[in-house]
Amino acid sequence: MLERIRVVLVGTSHPGNIGGAARAMKNMGLSRLVLVAPEDFPSSDAVARASGATDILDAAQVVETLEDALVGCTLVVGTSARDRRIPWPMLDPRECGVASCEQAAAGGEVALVFGREYAGLTNEELQRCQYHVHIPSDPDFSSLNLAAAVQVLSYEVRMAWLAAQQLPTKVAKLETTAMLNTQLATADELESFYGHLERALVAIGFLDPEKPRHLMSRLRRLYGRSDLSKLEMNILRGILTETEKAARGEHHKRGETDV
Ligand code: SAH
Repeated sequence: MLERIRVVLVGTSHPGNIGGAARAMKNMGLSRLVLVAPEDFPSSDAVARASGATDILDAAQVVETLEDALVGCTLVVGTSARDRRIPWPMLDPRECGVASCEQAAAGGEVALVFGREYAGLTNEELQRCQYHVHIPSDPDFSSLNLAAAVQVLSYEVRMAWLAAQQLPTKVAKLETTAMLNTQLATADELESFYGHLERALVAIGFLDPEKPRHLMSRLRRLYGRSDLSKLEMNILRGILTETEKAARGEHHKRGETDV
């Protein structure tokens, strides 16, 4: 599915950035790189910065125009380091990751388009994109290095893709929780646990009945957040019973507890 998402670099001047972009893509599982009229490619600088992602450079498609790069695409997203005058439908990087994955999963072809190091994308090029995406950088220093921008968007694609993969796992998790829920400790069981806890804390001198402060309400809040199961509560009550015995000076023989 990720092979249906292509990264398009327009008019790149530094071949090192092409290599850096290839590496960023490969880290995130993207493989299709399209170069529109690169100034210097192929190049040893690109290979050096790709740091092992040379297969992506080797397979990179070099074309003359942005139009050529976008052939077959059903979703085209352009990137911009700053706000442009023409208002355009915007996606944030996260939405861009989700939209790209949804489109690719539905069988479409997606292009993420990146501009020149010095001048970005022209207005004409931006108008060939259905959506624009801006990485929400500090407005006083908003322009990322080209390969770094590719990294951010590739990462968001990967996160969206992973989330889509994990849907069945999430369902399984819900089922496990539902199973545990049937065995949750009930309110009345919790009340007698809190009573037991309080007696034990008094017995070991941790809770002063004259000056209880907010200890019990804080402990109620803590256990209340924990979704205690009956089994877990029995373990805690077993610990309390043994703690009380120890406080009374009774010896605990190993193996006596049955939790
Ligand atoms: N002076 C140019 C900077 C281009 S930076 C300009 O103002 O447009 C090179 C490319 O990196 C951009 O064309 C874009 O593809 C990407 N890029 C850099 N910073 C970005 C940001 N904050 N959001 C989205 N893309 C960004």
